[in-house]
Amino acid sequence: MERSVAPPSSAAGSTTTNTTILGKYEMGQLLGRGSFAKVYQARSIADGSIVAIKVIDKEATMNASMEPRIIREVAAMRRLQHPNILKIHEVLATKSKIYLVMELATNGELFNKIAKRGRLTESSARRYFQQLVSALIFCHQNGVVHRDIKPQNLLLDEQGNLKVSDFGLSALPELHDTILHTACGTPAYTAPEVISRRGYDGAKADAWSCGVILFVFLAGFLPFDDSNLVTMYRKIQRKEFTYPPWISKSAKWLISQLLDPNPNTRISINNLMHSSWFKKSLNLKTQKSLGDLELMSIKECRLEEENKVMNAFDIISLSSGLNLSGLFEVVKIKEKRFTSIYSPDLILERVSEVGGNLGFDVERGKRGILGLEKGRLGILVEVLEVAKSLFLVELKVVQGGIEFEDVYWEEFRKGLGDVVLSWHGDTI
Ligand code: ADP
Ligand code: MG
Repeated sequence: MERSVAPPSSAAGSTTTNTTILGKYEMGQLLGRGSFAKVYQARSIADGSIVAIKVIDKEATMNASMEPRIIREVAAMRRLQHPNILKIHEVLATKSKIYLVMELATNGELFNKIAKRGRLTESSARRYFQQLVSALIFCHQNGVVHRDIKPQNLLLDEQGNLKVSDFGLSALPELHDTILHTACGTPAYTAPEVISRRGYDGAKADAWSCGVILFVFLAGFLPFDDSNLVTMYRKIQRKEFTYPPWISKSAKWLISQLLDPNPNTRISINNLMHSSWFKKSLNLKTQKSLGDLELMSIKECRLEEENKVMNAFDIISLSSGLNLSGLFEVVKIKEKRFTSIYSPDLILERVSEVGGNLGFDVERGKRGILGLEKGRLGILVEVLEVAKSLFLVELKVVQGGIEFEDVYWEEFRKGLGDVVLSWHGDTI
């Protein structure tokens, strides 16, 4: 059923709340329930715009160590802008909840449409599939894999364009694992190597899920489906599924390449773009943007998309899962984080001061990003607002980590002094 974009009604009911969160948004009707969150329609008090807000209950879903990571991942996702990726406007947090304020997908889940009207025509399946692939390629190139491509995460906007949701969150292994092993219960869309918890390539796992999605688009039912999970898993491993007779030969070829249980021989998302089924009737604009995506380096792609100058620090900060070995000398990224109640300007000023005293060149980027460089050593500093007047500051050692650890770390810690509210250890 198509959803209305009307402002939240005041009718009180089990699906409606009348609360205002952090003085910024009036919460409206419940749009959907996820495995670890509820999503509401809401209205911005500042400008009246209608948005969707995902409310994550911290106590019910995560342990304390996960929170800074969630906020960090989501904050990074905010910078990924692509027409087929659901935009995250802002992230707010209180003691017990995290709120992700995002673009409203007016037309809800794509799969409601399939459930209601049955399978898609080949041409509309192709259009949605091209949009999905375009979003995934863009994200993979920016070092982010989705790993949770499934119907509930494919939404439609007002114009009927596909919007992939939940990118930031599924980049978090813990959360993802919890979800996989508790709530969703069925591995229908999940690649075999992910289910069996072998080490895996996230981009190839996304390719598998694309195969299942494409099958469902065209067939109207799942390729692997069994109430018994063991049986279902066996079917997946043996590639045991049958095509309905109406699926074309070229579509079958593509599905079969994607649903290859062996990730090493499975077709990659980049290569699937060259298949005849995918390319057919690709409109010139999409074709151009896909071609561009394929040819452009990460740097150029980001540059074009945000139309701003980015430096190596910006790019590295976006690319936790990406192999950048050809571009930068990044072996292992070390990271320290702290919270602060000082203003971002003051925080960055203090970091610059400490860095300057230690002989670093300081480069001030846009939107709370700072780069520190000294010889082989490179540090990216970023300030993220996690709640009103509460900031999370990341110090990412992007080059020369060992040197930083030994020589400079203690100096930074001392120099930052009272700017720091609390430290959050280091990871990665
Ligand atoms: P989870 O990640 O916990 O599974 P989701 O983000 O997938 O939660 O959201 C659950 C449901 O809420 C979705 O399946 C969809 O129906 C609805 N929903 C989520 N985000 C939006 C949005 N931006 N606009 C409209 N509906 C949404
Ligand atoms: Mg989801």
